[in-house]
Amino acid sequence: MFDIYSGPVFGMARQQFLQAADILEIPQDQRDRLLYPKRAIAVTCPIHRDDGSTVVYEGYRVQHHLSLGPAKGGVRFSPHVDIGEVAALSLWMSWKCALMNLPYGGAKGGVRVDPYSLSLKELEALSRRFMQELIPFVGPHVDVMAPDIGTNEQVMAWFMDTYSNDAGQTVTEIVTGKPVSCGGTVGRREATGRGVTHTIVRAAEEINLNLAQSTAVIQGFGNVGSVAANELHALGVKILAISDHTAAYHDPKGLNIPEIIAYVAKHGVLKGYSTECLTDPNTILTIKCDVLVPAAVERVITEEIANKIECRIIAEAANGPTTLEADAVFAKRPEIFIIPDILCNSGGVTVSYFEWVQDLQQFFWEEEEIISRMKKIMDKGFYDTVKSAKELKVSNRMAATCAGLKRVHLAKQARGLFP
Ligand code: NAD
Repeated sequence: MFDIYSGPVFGMARQQFLQAADILEIPQDQRDRLLYPKRAIAVTCPIHRDDGSTVVYEGYRVQHHLSLGPAKGGVRFSPHVDIGEVAALSLWMSWKCALMNLPYGGAKGGVRVDPYSLSLKELEALSRRFMQELIPFVGPHVDVMAPDIGTNEQVMAWFMDTYSNDAGQTVTEIVTGKPVSCGGTVGRREATGRGVTHTIVRAAEEINLNLAQSTAVIQGFGNVGSVAANELHALGVKILAISDHTAAYHDPKGLNIPEIIAYVAKHGVLKGYSTECLTDPNTILTIKCDVLVPAAVERVITEEIANKIECRIIAEAANGPTTLEADAVFAKRPEIFIIPDILCNSGGVTVSYFEWVQDLQQFFWEEEEIISRMKKIMDKGFYDTVKSAKELKVSNRMAATCAGLKRVHLAKQARGLFP
């Protein structure tokens, strides 16, 4: 059924869903309705390149459900995007929003492109064309986009401007993760990495780990990875190794994170920062440390890597970094505390929710309020997950997935099936 989504990433999300549906004893005839996306839209985005030629990119938007409110989720620009991956990410967004009690269904979007290969003008053209193609299918109460891999505040500003030009008025609430100068919220850019760090603080308390004397390794040094690195560094955590798609660095004495962040702000990537502490990117996840933070892409922690990992906490900043086979290994390694993605990186969508609410009301909050409300919502998600994992005798991932799925299931049951 629904062959269009088939592939390793959707297969993984589907399997996780089925495990949770078994635990919740959801009847067989209600499962497909909960699993498969409500809508999947494929768009063709032609743009002019700077050399005068025309090039066409394929894009997708998948809206998993709208039972609790608008669909909500990021858009990624990446050469690896396919509809199965986008659909899987939309499912995870659904469970994440429901776990955090946010009034949203999950969505995700993507364009198959290497954004690093585009000039700024080409990136703007692609961003505007993608939103233009999706205008009939999105809206502040239908589907609200946000940044993800390869997109950022500037791309969100172009999305918002394109939608607003079509509407004939400024519609800031159509996207979140915009610059503060045009309706964004303070604290959104840092929200995901900050939330990741907050869950690490809570996990460290659970396992009696003194973070000020601990070490961390971070894969991915974009929005999420770099902010998490900065926040952990500020807590006194020694960052032993970091990587992005261009380079990996390892220094047992600890890397100078503020200096590296300044370097990346200027050069865009890690490559060229240093020749002394260069290391093999393939070994980064197995460096011995206390806190391991995958903050790049899906399915990087394989069965083989799971067997070799030497850490106390895995903080899944990225979506879907751990394969099903790796999860089976971790089931036999209870000494590792896993903060599952839908909990760990939920600070991003939580502050996106605050941005949407502020835009709808045209009333803006102080950063302190944003941070304290975010931590409150994340704490509830964290403690509910840990408690129910113990009660149900399941992994943190299954406990979090069950909590999210249960909320969506209850909403669909209460609303009934139309017609
Ligand atoms: P980004 O584009 O800002 O950064 C991605 C980083 O990963 C870059 O440093 C890139 O070089 C690196 N990378 C890509 N492939 C890699 C590889 N094979 N090995 C090592 N590094 C690699 O994206 P982001 O917004 O920081 O997103 C990172 C992850 O966090 C994604 O899984 C995304 O879905 C998830 N996430 C992001 C947000 C958000 O608010 N941006 C919210 C929730 C979850």
